[in-house]
Amino acid sequence: MSIAFDNSYARDLTGAYVAAMPQGWPDPQLALLNTAWAETLGLDTGFLQTPDGVAMLSGHAAPEAAQPIAQAYAGHQFGGFNPQLGDGRAYLLGEVLAPDGARHDIHLKGAGRTPFARGGDGRAVLGPVLREYLVSEAMAGLGIPTTRALAACTTGDRVLRQNGLEPGAVLARTGASHLRVGTLQFFAARGQPDMVARVADYAIARHDPDLAGTEGRYLAFLSRVGARQARLVAQWMGVGFVHGVMNTDNCTLSGETIDYGPCAFMERYDPATVFSSIDHGGRYAYGNQPGIIMWNMARLAEAMLPLIDPDEDRAVSLATAAVEAVQDQYRAEWLAVFARKLGFERACPEVLVDDLHRLLEGQGVDFTNFFRMLPDALTGDTATLAAEFNDPSGLSPWLDRLRAGLDNPDTAAARMRAVNPIYIPRNHLVEHALEAASDLGDMDPFLSLLQHVQTPFTPRADGAAFASPAPQDAPSVVTFC
Ligand code: AMP
Ligand code: MG
Ligand code: MG
Repeated sequence: MSIAFDNSYARDLTGAYVAAMPQGWPDPQLALLNTAWAETLGLDTGFLQTPDGVAMLSGHAAPEAAQPIAQAYAGHQFGGFNPQLGDGRAYLLGEVLAPDGARHDIHLKGAGRTPFARGGDGRAVLGPVLREYLVSEAMAGLGIPTTRALAACTTGDRVLRQNGLEPGAVLARTGASHLRVGTLQFFAARGQPDMVARVADYAIARHDPDLAGTEGRYLAFLSRVGARQARLVAQWMGVGFVHGVMNTDNCTLSGETIDYGPCAFMERYDPATVFSSIDHGGRYAYGNQPGIIMWNMARLAEAMLPLIDPDEDRAVSLATAAVEAVQDQYRAEWLAVFARKLGFERACPEVLVDDLHRLLEGQGVDFTNFFRMLPDALTGDTATLAAEFNDPSGLSPWLDRLRAGLDNPDTAAARMRAVNPIYIPRNHLVEHALEAASDLGDMDPFLSLLQHVQTPFTPRADGAAFASPAPQDAPSVVTFC
């Protein structure tokens, strides 16, 4: 048995990639296999655990049917444009068709240097690979669109990083595609509108097949991407996720979360929350994410401008309207996310959501646990929740308005418990799990945390430690790309 690949990107988009070669590792080993996801994809989990399967998943050797390619893309990084990024340390192995017909990329991150590597070593190390595995699985558990971890492998060699030599590792991940805003920007910046159109048509075929071949499809596609990103970021906001590096090359056309580097979950509610060591200006802070997605959609619109209308002024006005609509869509999605979190079956008064955010600001309240404590506060005991606030004086009046807006507190409480997670990948738990797992020493804390965050709404007997914020004296977390 092997894997049946169907490599549409390599077939259809000549000029948008370069060939990549597996470089061969000293001792490739499977560290983690996501068997449930592999089965959903229709992959043979037995094969994946054989030496040939591990060779494939680790990027040690590519099977016959695969066609490893490094994708070309550009991107705005922290606002500055880089005309050539591309997969420097990753390649697309190929695509597979799941039993439900859905097409998934199989992509290997950390698989070695490619022609896009510039000064980089092309490598990934175990800690960040396990981190992406864990956090992307948590996102999937939360029901938020994301690339998925298929496997994590070690390579048997060591790679130099800030703190010395670390175990080399490769993450095999899947995605609805790896097309980014930056993929279109790459060709727009080179003055190749015909290639922008080819990539856009390819993206349409994959993500919006109902638009294929229609007149006006590029403008419609721009709106679709905007709607998906608006929805995605609204969902991030609902769980306190801070992506950390929302560059246009890390912004998918599919609407999936991609590139788990410096991302982390906010604990105490604070719109200024930043974790990334390189985000000095707070460009990608929690509260800035909605504005940034608008900015990224404007960059996408610019790249697509010649496709939208041959008349430049008309193209600009159509594209501007499409991007402006994303703002309203975001607001609607964000309100819907918080209406659900507050136990409403449908819409809730907007002012209640806006006031909730005002209420939480500066209070030191754990964002995740606030929503888990809300059902009890709603139906009886408000003292426990009030104790979480620095100044609880605003809580009771707001709770009264919430009660007044809900038709039945008991059904609302049940709805809240169904949508508000108990377990998120809290930073101190992630750090602890990765420390124990370094060199694959003790995987138990990692596996236990993984289990909790994969089913984040289900209470577990041993769950208390996984649902608690970092201890007061814990150092503040800084994350790295
Ligand atoms: P990221 O910040 O992860 O989105 O990566 C930005 C760009 O840097 C992409 O083009 C990556 O392929 C490239 N890159 C990141 N790390 C490495 C590395 N170790 N070796 C080569 N390229 C890298
Ligand atoms: Mg990236
Ligand atoms: Mg990255």
